[in-house]
Amino acid sequence: MKKSDSSNFKCLRCGDCCRWHGYVRISQDEADKIAARLGMNVLEFIDRMTILTADRRNLSINENPDGTCIFFSGDPPRCEIYDIRPAQCRDFPGKWKNASEKFKCRSNSE
Ligand code: SF4
Ligand code: SF4
Repeated sequence: MKKSDSSNFKCLRCGDCCRWHGYVRISQDEADKIAARLGMNVLEFIDRMTILTADRRNLSINENPDGTCIFFSGDPPRCEIYDIRPAQCRDFPGKWKNASEKFKCRSNSE
């Protein structure tokens, strides 16, 4: 899940931020780490589990048809790569100050 590392922030583990449709941008270093975690060659990971963003600047983790991140799974659903989740996920909501109303974290304890 996209969690903030702010010391004052209390994530409710609701998973909303992993269910939203939209890019989860990853760096090359993050792609390398995720591929290694999955035991995959990084090129295979990129080919099978990412897309190129429309601005062609980043790779983004694939999502399921309902918009949920492919790494959000299980019962109850959790991020499968939580300890190595991308910076975009770690920085939510603390560094998403310009996020639209659509992307509001339900925790108000920041
Ligand atoms: S990588 Fe993990 S934290 Fe980030 S959107 Fe996917 S499931 Fe959520
Ligand atoms: S929306 Fe907020 S409270 Fe819910 S999982 Fe994401 S960071 Fe945590």
